[in-house]
Amino acid sequence: MKTYDVIVVGGGLAGLTAAIDAKRKGHSILVIEKKTYPHHKVCGEYVSNEVLPYLESLGVFLNEFGAVNINTMQFSTLAGDTVSTKLPLGGVGISRYSFDHIMYHKALELGVKFCFQSALSIAFENNQFEVITDQKEIYMSSIVIGAYGKRSSLDKQLRRDFMQQKSSWLAVKGHYKYEFPSNLVALHNFKGGYGGLSKVESGAVNFCYLANYADFQKEKNIANFNKKVVSQNPFLAAFLKNAESLFEEPLTIAQISFSSKKAIENQVLMCGDTAGLIHPLCGNGMSMAIHAAKIASELIHKFLNEKSYTREQLNTEYENKWNHTFNQRLWVGRKAQSILLNERLSNVALSAAVKSPNLLRTLIKRTHGKAIPV
Ligand SMILES: Cc1cc2nc3c(=O)[nH]c(=O)nc-3n(C[C@H](O)[C@H](O)[C@H](O)COP(=O)(O)OP(=O)(O)OC[C@H]3O[C@@H](n4cnc5c(N)ncnc54)[C@H](O)[C@@H]3O)c2cc1C
Repeated sequence: MKTYDVIVVGGGLAGLTAAIDAKRKGHSILVIEKKTYPHHKVCGEYVSNEVLPYLESLGVFLNEFGAVNINTMQFSTLAGDTVSTKLPLGGVGISRYSFDHIMYHKALELGVKFCFQSALSIAFENNQFEVITDQKEIYMSSIVIGAYGKRSSLDKQLRRDFMQQKSSWLAVKGHYKYEFPSNLVALHNFKGGYGGLSKVESGAVNFCYLANYADFQKEKNIANFNKKVVSQNPFLAAFLKNAESLFEEPLTIAQISFSSKKAIENQVLMCGDTAGLIHPLCGNGMSMAIHAAKIASELIHKFLNEKSYTREQLNTEYENKWNHTFNQRLWVGRKAQSILLNERLSNVALSAAVKSPNLLRTLIKRTHGKAIPV
């Protein structure tokens, strides 16, 4: 049995960022991650620039790894009508295969410990956490950060409310060889879903889409769904016809839930998608995960260093800061997705956006934060 100041359950971007930041502040950290690095993940792979200064303050420079600068967004409806706008802050394109791997190496370099197993349970007793893995290893800590992503058996173990609600979304992602402008992120609507195209550091184009599970099930498999539903959008039809897949098979995930979640559950500080997932059309989930990790590691540092700062204060302050920073974006994201997936409303919204491109910029601004101060 080993004891750490902080155990981070899940080594995606939220977990790795929190581990790096808390380690730099002088604490002993264990990350429990069920998969080894590097590995591909279902994600649009567009990272908002709001997190770059903070990542750089942690010693992570994405441009050194070939991240592609993106400054323009194009949106198209099912009928192929389009509107384009300059992105207020812009972002970079980098694959999760590389991004998570870069962060893993930074954490290792700083002395963060890793345990490549699945965490099966998290218990809190006598002011201490006990985490048990699938290999029956037991780890203890003062703090646990839950950064295990959208959905896990741990959510069941913690009896989280959102697990009772049905989630009807599925996502598909792959890398392709295709002529595509480096500075563009394109979002194309189709019936019951939408797909994003943008370039990553390898020169590949990432195509990632979110679709309604019931619509997908009717077509039985990805090939049919791409042909019959996704290709109804002329931009996506041209892409699927001409692009050459670089993956043997696309990656998929199902049961994606956008329901509200709590930022604290059984004394665990939830971080990243574990605390709440923004609709992918906002292209902002990664920066939210990274920003939440910054908030968590600052408050954890205070808790571990100041005797008068209680666990109760830590939990309350984290929850309040989380809600203050992200709740409005989540709300706007939910509204934008419901408009986008309603054919009539999305046409009305698009014609308004064509007449006033500022409308689209305002929407983008309201689903993104400002550059995170460091
Ligand atoms: C279709 C789609 C497109 C998206 N596109 C974008 C985009 O373009 N830009 C953007 O910013 N965001 C995007 N997002 C959101 C973004 O992918 C997430 O917000 C981001 O990955 C959150 O990071 P995370 O660290 O919280 O979770 P993850 O990256 O999912 O990491 C969780 C980690 O926990 C591990 N884990 C899970 N359970 C356990 C366990 N029991 N024990 C140990 N380890 C465990 C997993 O293996 C994983 O590595 C998109 C999301 C979707 C669904």
